[in-house]
Amino acid sequence: MKNSLLIGRLAGIRIFLHWTFLLLLGFLVFAEVRRGSSSGAVLASVGFVLALFACVVLHELGHSLTARRFGIGTRSITLLPIGGVATLERMPEKPRQELLVALAGPAVNVLLALIIYPFVAPVGAFEGIGISHSAVGPGFLMALFWVNVMLVVFNAIPAFPMDGGRVLRALLAMRLGRPQATAIAAGLGKLIAVGFVFYGLFNAPFLVLIGIFVYFGAHTENVSVQHRELLRDYTVGHAMITNYLTLAPTDSVQDAANTLLAGSDQDLIVLDQGQAVGVLTRPLLMAALRDNRLTTTVAEVMSREFDTVEIGDSLAQVYARAQRQPNAFYPVLENHRLRGVIDQGNLTEFLTIRAALSH
Ligand SMILES: [Zn+2]
Repeated sequence: MKNSLLIGRLAGIRIFLHWTFLLLLGFLVFAEVRRGSSSGAVLASVGFVLALFACVVLHELGHSLTARRFGIGTRSITLLPIGGVATLERMPEKPRQELLVALAGPAVNVLLALIIYPFVAPVGAFEGIGISHSAVGPGFLMALFWVNVMLVVFNAIPAFPMDGGRVLRALLAMRLGRPQATAIAAGLGKLIAVGFVFYGLFNAPFLVLIGIFVYFGAHTENVSVQHRELLRDYTVGHAMITNYLTLAPTDSVQDAANTLLAGSDQDLIVLDQGQAVGVLTRPLLMAALRDNRLTTTVAEVMSREFDTVEIGDSLAQVYARAQRQPNAFYPVLENHRLRGVIDQGNLTEFLTIRAALSH
């Protein structure tokens, strides 16, 4: 995630701290100092927030390590002031797998609460509900116990894409199929998100942020699932651009600029005897022009590392891949020969046409 600080690795997964998290710690120290707390109390507060977020990291690791069992890697875990986010390479599509991955996070907090419980039970964990400000010694553990209970309770709310919402989607998907299950879960998720925002406005500002996060998360994921459903029966060959412009490696940067002007293509494929050997993206070409390298050959400025797709590849999978890469642009190959091009713009166009036809 952007604007994040790498703080370490756990089980091979990179853990990031979002910069706003430091803002939260700063605010906390400021609030304590303003209240006239002793330096010990300030440290205890900070220590408590760090322990809280350690619980959140373990929760996210629960999701990640369960996903790993199903062959799904995790790009990173990022800590935000409103919680953690484990960015999985993809979401498991089998409902049973999604169910287990979703449950694994809160299950970690159940486990943590059970581990802490014997230490706090004798001092009356149930008398001091809430986070005590003298969070030292038994008070510290008690607060941590309640944090884990709250994490379980909060994640049980069926607000897709929060854990409870994912559990709901997975259960619905077992009967209704994924597209319809997602539509229902996302609808409920948005409704609850609006509730979070309204309740949060008067009571808890952080809930407003979570509400916004949930609302847009539900929207984006639903759109993505519905789009993939529209693309389900198609291959790259159905949607690719067959009318595209190419360059030869020996062409000059000036030739490339003229070719770009002559058509509406953003990126150009460099062909050598029918084989795609490189891609000259718009930013690469612009950089060459800025450096005044008009007579330099295309071979010298093009990118030789580029992703390709096969003509028979599933369009839904290519769409999912393109969503993760800004400015996706793939030469389409058949038996190593260039047959077409596919990019974000023409995937969107294909979707618009499919959606219009399906009405
Ligand atoms: Zn979770």
